[in-house]
Amino acid sequence: VVKARRLVASKLIEANKSKSRFLSTMSHEIRTPLNAVIAISNILIMDDPKEKQLKNLKTLKYSSKHLLHLINDILDYNKLISGNLELDHSTFDLIKSVKHTVTSMSFNANEKDLKLNLILDENVPQLVKGDSHRLAQVLTNLVNNAIKFTPSGQIDIKLKQQESQEGKAKIYFEVTDTGIGIEESKLEMIFDRFTQAESDTTKKFGGTGLGLAICKKIINLHNSDIEVKSEVGIGTTFSFALEYDLVEQKIDKPTSQDFSEFELPHAKILIVDDNEINLMVLKQFLDRWKVKYDDARNGQEALDKIKANKYDLVLLDLQMPVKDGFTVALEVRTMDEAYYQQIPLIALSASVSADITDRVIQAGMNDYLCKPFEPEVLFQKLKWYCGKNSLVTTS
Ligand code: ADP
Repeated sequence: VVKARRLVASKLIEANKSKSRFLSTMSHEIRTPLNAVIAISNILIMDDPKEKQLKNLKTLKYSSKHLLHLINDILDYNKLISGNLELDHSTFDLIKSVKHTVTSMSFNANEKDLKLNLILDENVPQLVKGDSHRLAQVLTNLVNNAIKFTPSGQIDIKLKQQESQEGKAKIYFEVTDTGIGIEESKLEMIFDRFTQAESDTTKKFGGTGLGLAICKKIINLHNSDIEVKSEVGIGTTFSFALEYDLVEQKIDKPTSQDFSEFELPHAKILIVDDNEINLMVLKQFLDRWKVKYDDARNGQEALDKIKANKYDLVLLDLQMPVKDGFTVALEVRTMDEAYYQQIPLIALSASVSADITDRVIQAGMNDYLCKPFEPEVLFQKLKWYCGKNSLVTTS
């Protein structure tokens, strides 16, 4: 009997592993073309389209982002239940990060004429150590739900510091809407996976019923819990508190919101990606900003070009044949001349794993850009690194 049990257990472990492998491969395969759809809608939106076309393009971009969101949700949920998701512990700007998350949803709120208010208590610390990506994920889910289930009125996102002691701060987050509300008998079950308060919710509002299950699991990983209060026809409030380590020093990262100057004529960069569509998309952005560039389609070609030329910056895809981005970065940083130590290397990847930032930094890269990226974010990074660390800039 013991032998049979062991056999079943090992078969289960094996089955779980292949399920995870399957999901991770599939999600990568699906994300690659989907990223291209989002990137190309960005390019078309920047191309001065007619008003009617702009509306269609925005819908195209919104829908493809939504699809990507669903795929990420399914993958995340799988990681969360298999215990494979670890929280990141990096320094981030809490206020900026929350503002950014809220701003990114203002378009959806505006479309429904809903007011989106961010109310920050003045004690909320700016720099903390923790997982900014997962916080953004929780807030995005809650605010998106609030927008979805509120026909008119407003959504308030409140942050306040509850306690602080010995380098730690407990931050209280609250998302309140004036929406349709949830019946008391349904309040517990909405946190279960694939569960929606009403059977016709998917038909009426879309969604998978995974969002709140993911929020709860992420908040639980922080040793905390999520609470909900609601009154049908009046509105709903979701709240939770997370503890962060406080950080004193400033982070040396792009912070400017100035997109006024859309030209970088003196920079020469190398773009490395094995995917033709990704290269095509990058080239279109760079042409627009008048940035000169070379391209490489694998890690070895990239290394050869970095040695043969002087670049201001390298945009480096992480998953590539022959030599991947991590190997290229490690090899560049072990070379002798100052140029190889200083050249800014920015990773480009569709990976959403929480440890990606650490791995990128460990490999000696300066920064990381997650696909699909907003053009402004790429521009800001180019401007920042080409301006600051430039080796060949002549202006
Ligand atoms: P989804 O939004 O994809 O359906 P969630 O897990 O995020 O899945 O939410 C589960 C259910 O909880 C929703 O289908 C809805 O019935 C209910 N719900 C969540 N947030 C709100 C809200 N702000 N107002 C009213 N109902 C909500």
